[in-house]
Amino acid sequence: MATMDQLKEKVLSCTACKLAATRTNAVFGGGNFHARVLFIGEGPGQQEDLSGLPFVGRAGKLLDQMLDAVDLSREKDIFITNMVKCRPPGNRDPQPDEVSTCIEYLHEQIRLIAPQYIVCLGRVAAQSLIDPNFRVTKQHGQFIEKDGTLMMGTFHPAALLRNPRQKVDAFDDFCKLRDRLLESEASL
Ligand code: SF4
Repeated sequence: MATMDQLKEKVLSCTACKLAATRTNAVFGGGNFHARVLFIGEGPGQQEDLSGLPFVGRAGKLLDQMLDAVDLSREKDIFITNMVKCRPPGNRDPQPDEVSTCIEYLHEQIRLIAPQYIVCLGRVAAQSLIDPNFRVTKQHGQFIEKDGTLMMGTFHPAALLRNPRQKVDAFDDFCKLRDRLLESEASL
């Protein structure tokens, strides 16, 4: 198995799918490699593409505020990445061939981090990783065990910027995650 640094090197120079032609930077992800929680979005946006860093635009700021509200920090408590590591042009959904080419990097990240919890941010990640028929508005906040990992889907922060009324439900999901983490700490 590659180390995280070796994997990052491979991602940053990857040209395996057509998104390589239009990206500025591949975005590997960031946070704590030893975190108990892995957050997965769908793909880098414009600010992420320009900076090479995950979730740095307005949606990233909202995510940081939500994490902060439940006493979780991006640097200490989570690792965050995306289904595809390069920006789909115009922020379109990543296409199936792009996801299937890139997903081995995500699988390798999951093997290396071995998280207790995976939080899928938005439909693309939840349908790819939890259930192809996953509906975020109906199934958000439910924990589903898969291969020993508890998985939960919730709203993508970019969707919350478009539909602020869903912030209440999303915050409730973050509270559930925090409660699960506190419960599992208490039982150690
Ligand atoms: S999206 Fe993934 S597979 Fe495609 S070029 Fe970027 S790193 Fe490689």
